[in-house]
Amino acid sequence: MTSRDWHGDQRAVFDRDGHTCRRCGATDSTGDESASTADLHCYPIGDVPLEGTVHESSLVTVCDRCFDSLQGASVATDTQPDDETLFTLARDLTQRQGVTVSAVASFSSIATSLPTALEDAGEDDAARTDAEAEYRQARREVLLAIESVPSRLDPLAAVDETALDPAVSDPLAELVEAARTLQTELRELVSYCETVPVAIGRCRGCLKATETSETDKRDDTAACPTCGLPSESAGTAVMGTDDSMEARLSAINETLQGASATTETLTECAGQVATALQGEPTDPQ
Ligand SMILES: [Zn+2]
Ligand SMILES: [Zn+2]
Repeated sequence: MTSRDWHGDQRAVFDRDGHTCRRCGATDSTGDESASTADLHCYPIGDVPLEGTVHESSLVTVCDRCFDSLQGASVATDTQPDDETLFTLARDLTQRQGVTVSAVASFSSIATSLPTALEDAGEDDAARTDAEAEYRQARREVLLAIESVPSRLDPLAAVDETALDPAVSDPLAELVEAARTLQTELRELVSYCETVPVAIGRCRGCLKATETSETDKRDDTAACPTCGLPSESAGTAVMGTDDSMEARLSAINETLQGASATTETLTECAGQVATALQGEPTDPQ
């Protein structure tokens, strides 16, 4: 991530998010909206286009501190962390991935019920708008949660294991591997979930109806005219020839089960690291 300035429609994004950091919940302290936007930023999530303006459906409000942390600015990876830093990193990593797993579970349930929710809403514009806003919101939360992990995972992965007691370095290596696996599984889950709106002719990001011809549908590079996201998510390719809703749901459920097994491994390894470092297990909440 570069320090590129994400314009988009900042005011609309801040208003939508209630002038609150979506990562840590910090609000602007002044309460004066004209002055408050100074310490809030728009942060782009997901595979946003590299050129041009980012659509508001792919922008989240974050505070100064979270913006720096998301960009990895606050973590030095060139020095070997001491025991206390290691302990904190392992604990934070486990907590963040816990948050991410809940966010993905919630997004899965919202995405899979989206077709029914839209059908039930019928001509009721308000109900339809709510269902769409709920999907976009859940998608942003989960992508933001996934992107919050590397600032803790990367420094742990960069630790010089040879300088550590094997009682620490062995479970630490396992912890890093489980955390990486979990990140992959969670990204996969998001892309499976994104195939649900695509299946009913909607953009996977902004949910605008896509009016593509049959030939365009085969074109992976086709981008949504509203938000610029490539029309096809990675999940579409993995789904293969069976693109029925049943196949989607079972892919989502299977990956969710895998992710929950990886989470157990992760929590276990984090406990072992903590015990080796401090003689106490981490608080696994
Ligand atoms: Zn924040
Ligand atoms: Zn779109």
